[in-house]
Amino acid sequence: MKKSMTISYEVGKNLYLNLTNRCPCACTFCIRNNSDGAYGSDPLWLDHEPSMDEIRENLDQRDISRYDEIVFCGFGEPTERVDAIIAVAEYLRGRENCPVLRLNTNGLGDRINGRSVAAELCDVLDIISVSLNAGTEDEYMAVTRPKFHDAFSAMQKFTADCVRTGKAKVIMSVVDVIPAEQIEASRRIAESLGAVLRVRTYDE
Ligand code: SF4
Repeated sequence: MKKSMTISYEVGKNLYLNLTNRCPCACTFCIRNNSDGAYGSDPLWLDHEPSMDEIRENLDQRDISRYDEIVFCGFGEPTERVDAIIAVAEYLRGRENCPVLRLNTNGLGDRINGRSVAAELCDVLDIISVSLNAGTEDEYMAVTRPKFHDAFSAMQKFTADCVRTGKAKVIMSVVDVIPAEQIEASRRIAESLGAVLRVRTYDE
């Protein structure tokens, strides 16, 4: 496994942020299983989790106005570092021409942090994108392999809490490799929570 300090990397017109490698899941499709990076990036396995000073220094070298979105994503679950997300989002908002700020999450931030984190995240982010991955609990648990036994309901509660804030756009995503009936079941779940379903292609 190659390590580096790739704190940010470009994907198309977006800038992705890689703040942690921690994650409570072991998704069968996780890109970490097959590669040290994503979309041609340098390795995303971090030598250590970057401090706020290191993140700021990295971002200060970027012209953030060039990007459509800045995305908290990376090689791990960003809500393992909720405080860092909030601090970085506030820092970016303080700069000129801050683009849309999006969080890509497995939706398990409440279980990771032991408290509800929806409100504080929706205060500083524009889009919350939750990986739904499957249309039934059995499928979800089989594909996502989370360490929390109640992950499926916890992920949905987080999503509904985000919707209720009325502050961020809330998306749930699935990948188009799952069967059509799973996609339809996923759509029903997303809509029941007040979120919009996004069906991604595998390499997006
Ligand atoms: S939640 Fe994301 S980082 Fe974690 S195992 Fe699944 S795909 Fe990988």
